[in-house]
Amino acid sequence: MIADFRSDTVTKPTPGMLEAMHRAKVGDDVFEDDPTVNELQSFAAELFGREAALFCPSGTMTNQIAIKVHTQPGDEVVCDQLSHIYNYEGGGIASNSGCSVRLMRGERGRYTAADVEASVLPDDPHFPRTSLVSVENTSNKGGGAIWNNAEIAQIRAVCDSHNLKFHLDGARLFNALVETGQTPVEVGATFDSISICLSKGLGCPVGSLVIGDADFIHQARRVRKAFGGGMRQAGYIAAAGLYALNHQVQRLKDDHALARQLEAELLKQHWVSQVIPVETNIVVAELIEGLTPSAAVEQLQAQGVLAVPFGSRQIRFVTHLDIDEELISFTFDTLPKLKC
Ligand SMILES: *Cc1c(COP(=O)(O)O)cnc(C)c1O
Repeated sequence: MIADFRSDTVTKPTPGMLEAMHRAKVGDDVFEDDPTVNELQSFAAELFGREAALFCPSGTMTNQIAIKVHTQPGDEVVCDQLSHIYNYEGGGIASNSGCSVRLMRGERGRYTAADVEASVLPDDPHFPRTSLVSVENTSNKGGGAIWNNAEIAQIRAVCDSHNLKFHLDGARLFNALVETGQTPVEVGATFDSISICLSKGLGCPVGSLVIGDADFIHQARRVRKAFGGGMRQAGYIAAAGLYALNHQVQRLKDDHALARQLEAELLKQHWVSQVIPVETNIVVAELIEGLTPSAAVEQLQAQGVLAVPFGSRQIRFVTHLDIDEELISFTFDTLPKLKC
């Protein structure tokens, strides 16, 4: 038995999703001829109350497209030091868009409107031009932390007063929404662009969407082509996206319940010093002195429980739709076997 907690990207399509993919009507999406891609894009745009959306192969691409469209070379992007766009996108902010970053030192990936206000550079030829602010909700490296919506509204006001664009890396946005009860339309009204991943907790094999107004998406389509992300009969994977948005959003709450159970069990282990309080589906355990993340992960793997090293002292578990009660109890039996 293998309990794979390395990421919520390891999920396989459910039977209902596979059936929907099999039945998809397709065409050449570079000619905008794929009816299923068009349906997914309209569905997502409407869901967020915006004019348009664009289907892309990955969340890295949707983020990088948004950054490219919102900035000019030499501009500066404001984001948290833990953010995916800064840490995990291959240096794309610099190489794709020629921008520098101003890193916020937030709490679990969440900074404040005052932090942004203090980071906006004056219009002076010595300085880069601050042009874009990016928020990540939930924050991955922050252990699945959910942002406070009132803080986000205040950051929006700072962006407005300085004429800055505001991007949301919502790779796990729905994990936040099922907890807070905020609606996608409310999110849509706050940001200039929104990236969501279908391939994380929503369970699709591949795919992300970037959402915004028609002019933004028109420019995004050009950048997607230049980045090599124009796809042909992509309706087969877009069908998975439609299925996920219609059937696999509310169940994210089940992942969160399992994550809280896992948190409680980890706290009982002699090899765990603390667990970052669980807010969604990400569980980060800090190890006791002398046990390295790689040693812990190796021992767990030998017993059939997969996690990933996370920084110098921690390991990360992510719950998802392929983790059921049986795998959870197997995991709970296995955790105490770790020696150190
Ligand atoms: C996974 C993830 C992405 C996108 O990753 P891809 O693997 O490129 O789809 C973007 N932002 C965050 C916070 C993520 O966790």
